[in-house]
Amino acid sequence: MPIVPLRPLLEASNKYKFAHGGFNVNAVAQAEAVIEVHEMYRSAAILQAADLANGFMGGRKDFLNATIEDKKIGAKRIADAVRKIGENSKIPIVIHLDHGKDFESVKAAIDGGFTSVMIDGSHLPYEENVELTREVVKYAHPKGVSVEGELGVLAGVEDHVFSQTSTYTNPMKVCDFFKKTGVDCLAISYGTMHGASKGKNVKLRKEIAIASMENLRHEGIFGALVSHGSSTVPQYIVEEINQLGGDIKDAYGISINELMSVIPYGIGKINVDTDIRMAVTRNVREYFIENPSKQKSNEIGDIWSIMENNKSAFDPRVYLTPIMDTLLTGNEPNSDISDITNCVRRGVKEVVGTLIVNFGSFGYAPKIEKVSLEDMIKRYK
Ligand SMILES: [Zn+2]
Repeated sequence: MPIVPLRPLLEASNKYKFAHGGFNVNAVAQAEAVIEVHEMYRSAAILQAADLANGFMGGRKDFLNATIEDKKIGAKRIADAVRKIGENSKIPIVIHLDHGKDFESVKAAIDGGFTSVMIDGSHLPYEENVELTREVVKYAHPKGVSVEGELGVLAGVEDHVFSQTSTYTNPMKVCDFFKKTGVDCLAISYGTMHGASKGKNVKLRKEIAIASMENLRHEGIFGALVSHGSSTVPQYIVEEINQLGGDIKDAYGISINELMSVIPYGIGKINVDTDIRMAVTRNVREYFIENPSKQKSNEIGDIWSIMENNKSAFDPRVYLTPIMDTLLTGNEPNSDISDITNCVRRGVKEVVGTLIVNFGSFGYAPKIEKVSLEDMIKRYK
């Protein structure tokens, strides 16, 4: 199946009241694993690359300084890889831009082959957010590409987009935003938080989701809600990392029960990034400790050195740079490198598999309407 826009997945999750996970990827091996585990559970798959992740995939180890040119290269690289892996897949697969920060970044993703994009204008005054989002919709919809906007500000840090305070989404403005911009889905701020330190026992303001969806229904507007900053940060993984010499402190996520309780109220996509990073970190640490000779390997020993110098690091982009070429291309020139990519694959499958079951997306792939980008072009007209 060719890669598809996000819209038909949102329609299915609204109709059947489940959520799709949106899983961030920063390497070809990760993309392969995300797709494989979704195939296993017969769930549609949403692979996401954040704006800065595209800079990383553009070959920039110092991805915080990535230019628009780097992002263009990276966006095309990840979209091409996903398209190739998904070519013969039986499930619908979406490649989505997470937190596009401006029109140029969104354009780089769409031109590179993404089938869905987020434009995050949530830091702007309302009217400017509407204006920017509308501009993106005007570029995306004539190409069949789906668009996610954001209203309200989440606290926390995600790819170094930092906000000290949270401003919850105003459900009264949700309809107006959908009407004026034409977005397909909207990220709301209702108590979730970016990053690994969300604090203990976070309670979600589910009435914000309920009121938003009710307002949309009254106006007869289709819309799905998206939950960002929703990693569950499994405590067993944090404990294991620390037992393996890591130093992760104050890492708490949103409890899976809280997340599951909001899904029936219109949360159609739940973004998860941190959990995958944690599981991969645990696996790589475990591998080096169980195979001490590999700590000095010419091919991968530098990975261990970086990890030992950054015991609190759990972003694989920090410590996997010695195998950058493999991350970008998927080539695995020797068995040491394959050992590491297998750590990555297993970490992805553990976390993503668990969440596919919890979010309830398993088994729904065949029920999702087969809608191509071309079909969506006609529909948007
Ligand atoms: Zn986010």
